[in-house]
Amino acid sequence: MTVANRHSIIDTKYHLFDNNRSKSNSALYRLNMMIYQRPMPPAGRHLLAVVFLPLLLAGALMACRQDASSGGEVEGAPATERLTLPVLAPHTGDAPLRVVATTGLVGDVVGRVGGAAIDLTVLMGPGQDPHSYQPGAADLAAVADADLIFVNGWNLEEGLLADLAAIAGAPFVPVSAGITPRRIESDHGHDHDHGPADPHVWQDVGHVGQWAENVRLALRAADPANAAIYDANAAAYRATLAELAAELRQTLAAIPAERRVFVTNHDNLGYFTAAYDFTSVGAVIPSVSSLAEPTAAGLAALIDTMRATGVCAVVVEANAADDLARVLQNELTGCDEVRLIALYTDALGAAGSAADNYPGLMRANAAALVEGLR
Ligand SMILES: [Zn+2]
Repeated sequence: MTVANRHSIIDTKYHLFDNNRSKSNSALYRLNMMIYQRPMPPAGRHLLAVVFLPLLLAGALMACRQDASSGGEVEGAPATERLTLPVLAPHTGDAPLRVVATTGLVGDVVGRVGGAAIDLTVLMGPGQDPHSYQPGAADLAAVADADLIFVNGWNLEEGLLADLAAIAGAPFVPVSAGITPRRIESDHGHDHDHGPADPHVWQDVGHVGQWAENVRLALRAADPANAAIYDANAAAYRATLAELAAELRQTLAAIPAERRVFVTNHDNLGYFTAAYDFTSVGAVIPSVSSLAEPTAAGLAALIDTMRATGVCAVVVEANAADDLARVLQNELTGCDEVRLIALYTDALGAAGSAADNYPGLMRANAAALVEGLR
C-alpha cells in the first residue's frame, strides 16, 4: 500500500464533495446523499483493512515500492500485480476439511470443487454487497474453527477482512491468485499514479476458471486424501465454464456493436466490458468500491458524458432501488427512455432464482443486456 494510494482512499472517504459545486449540482448532491448514504466502517477498522490486510493476504503484492527518502513512489518501479497462493500444510484428523468462503460467488465455486468432501460455510448470503458486509457472531465462530478460508482477493470484502484476520488461525486463500488485475487510473495527482486493483474478476468467465484451479490446488494441498475428488470436480466445473463462455458470446452477439455501451453503478464491470466487447462510459460511483460515494462534480460530468455520447442505458445492481432512474431521467432529457438494466454484478441472486449460482448469474445478466440494449 503506497502513501499515495492510502491518501487517495482516505480522500475518497472523507473529502467527498467539491465545496465549489454549483447550485444545480447541489440538487444532485442531495439526491445522491439520499440514494447512496451508507454507514462507514469505524475508522480503526478501515485503517486495519487498508494497511494490514494487503500484507496479510499477499505479502508480495505491493503495488509500487516506496521511496524511503521522499515517501513517494519510485518512478518506474515494477508493479507486482498478482496475488499468490499460500503454501498449505495437510490438515490433521479424520473430520472433513472445514472451509469458509466469504462471498456467495466464491462459495459457489469452492462448493463445486470441494463437493461433499468438505464442510463448507459461506458467510455472505444472496444479494449481499460484498464491500459493506460485516461479520456476525456465527461468521466469526466458523472462521475461528476453519482449516481454510477462501477470500476473493484485493480487499473486495473490505468491511469483513480485518475482523476475520483478527480471529482466524487458518490460512487465507485468495481465489483470484494468478490473475492480472485491472487497475483503475487515478486522477489524484502525478501521471504514474494508479488506483487500486479491481476485485470484480468473476465478470470474466475465464477468471472463474482460474478460481476453480486455485481452489483445486488449495484443497488438494490441505486435504491430500481427497485430491482425486477435487481434481475430478474441478475438471468438470471448468468444462461447464468453457461451455458457459461460448454460450455467453452467442447470446451477447444479438447486441449490435454500436449499442454495446452503458453506464454502471460503481466501477464493477471492467472485466466484463473487456472480455465481451462492451464499453462503459462511466460509473455513478467512480470507484471499484461501492462504499465510495459519488461527488456532485463527478455525477455532473457523467451526465455530460451521457448527453454527449447519447448513452441512455444504466446498469444497476439487481436489488437496487429505482431512485437512480428518476435522477437520471430528469437530467437526460435527450433520451427517449433511460433504460435501467438490472444485473447481478456483485452477488448471487436469491436461492431458487436462476442467478443463485455463477453460470446462472452470467446467463441472467447476458439475457438482461440483450433485452436492455437491443
Ligand atoms: Zn463491487
